[in-house]
Amino acid sequence: MPIVAAETLHQLTQAICAAAGSEPHEAELVADHLVAANLAGHDSHGVGMLPFYVRCLGEGILKVNQHAQVLREQGAILVLDGQRGFGQVIACEAMARGIALAAREGLALVALRNSFHIGRIGHWAEQCARAGYASVHFVNVIDHSPIVALHGAGEATLGTNPFCAALPSAESASVLLDMATSKVALGKIRVAANKGLPAPEGTLLDEAGEPTSDGSIMFPDHLGALIAMGEHKGSGLAFICELFAGALTGGRTMQPEHPRAGGAINNMLSIIIDPGAIDDRQRMLNETEAMIRLAKSARPRRGFEEVLLPGEPEQRRRAERSAKGVELDERSWADILAAARTAGVAEPALARIVG
Ligand code: NAD
Repeated sequence: MPIVAAETLHQLTQAICAAAGSEPHEAELVADHLVAANLAGHDSHGVGMLPFYVRCLGEGILKVNQHAQVLREQGAILVLDGQRGFGQVIACEAMARGIALAAREGLALVALRNSFHIGRIGHWAEQCARAGYASVHFVNVIDHSPIVALHGAGEATLGTNPFCAALPSAESASVLLDMATSKVALGKIRVAANKGLPAPEGTLLDEAGEPTSDGSIMFPDHLGALIAMGEHKGSGLAFICELFAGALTGGRTMQPEHPRAGGAINNMLSIIIDPGAIDDRQRMLNETEAMIRLAKSARPRRGFEEVLLPGEPEQRRRAERSAKGVELDERSWADILAAARTAGVAEPALARIVG
């Protein structure tokens, strides 16, 4: 399997976006985001998305060089339209505006609608945490047929609707819970199917609503359904994400009458909180740090080596992959190179980047 340096993936992504018409800053933000997802261990949301993006650019359902358009700003509430632009630009702008608003108001509620795929949601919570803010994000995914079955359902009615929350701490990296509300993200089924591996047990239903491990049924058409995580509780959170992100933002939900052009439109409701507006900021940071120490000091259960906190697996992966490079399966790598050619990256430039 090819092991590719992060820098090579970054240059390749920039070249693909530039060939597709992106301004240099957009190409850089898309590359930063996708490569950071690979480094965090989430290949499902890394450079493996490029063939999908190139197809959507070709079909005009993803648009280059768009910016988050302000629809309303009232007190701590900001409503933005992403105009089907690259989510890596739109969400970055949305968070920057939200952070500025939270600095002024103590709290910001950012309702983002109609952005193309905003990728790994943790990236946006990290943007807030780096600036010193806690944040909560509810996301839904539309513009394609439903792929997630709620608890008790034999067929899909939702997308993989991620939920994310993070807060900074005094010494550790921020605590970051970032997850699809399906048992696994669709991209993980794709990565496994590309490697010829079965879908993890208990994650997938076939067309008849029966359990299956054949991930290929989800590509190119979604014939089966991913199962919502966490029985009735996780399933409830998936549904709440649909309503908070899809209905409350003024974006759209998975209703059949809404467009399903075969893209991935994300709506996101973000709450960005200035800890200093509530209490002494340093006290919150110290309390969080102390709680991290307490949680990690627990005696591990049989079968576990240690207690890991949300965000820790990604931090470890980042350290490992930054040093060693990103391992991609043959199929994903071939698809990315084919997408580069489709986007119009010239052969000499491609050879210079990938060697
Ligand atoms: P995951 O299951 O790998 O991790 C979910 C959470 O659990 C993370 O916070 C992680 O730090 C934590 N975690 C993982 N292993 C752990 C362990 N052993 N102990 C303690 N905590 C642990 O993530 P996922 O659900 O597969 O989601 C992958 C990514 O896909 C996320 O970044 C999500 O934002 C993204 N996503 C995006 C969209 C979209 O439409 N943009 C849709 C779905 C998912």
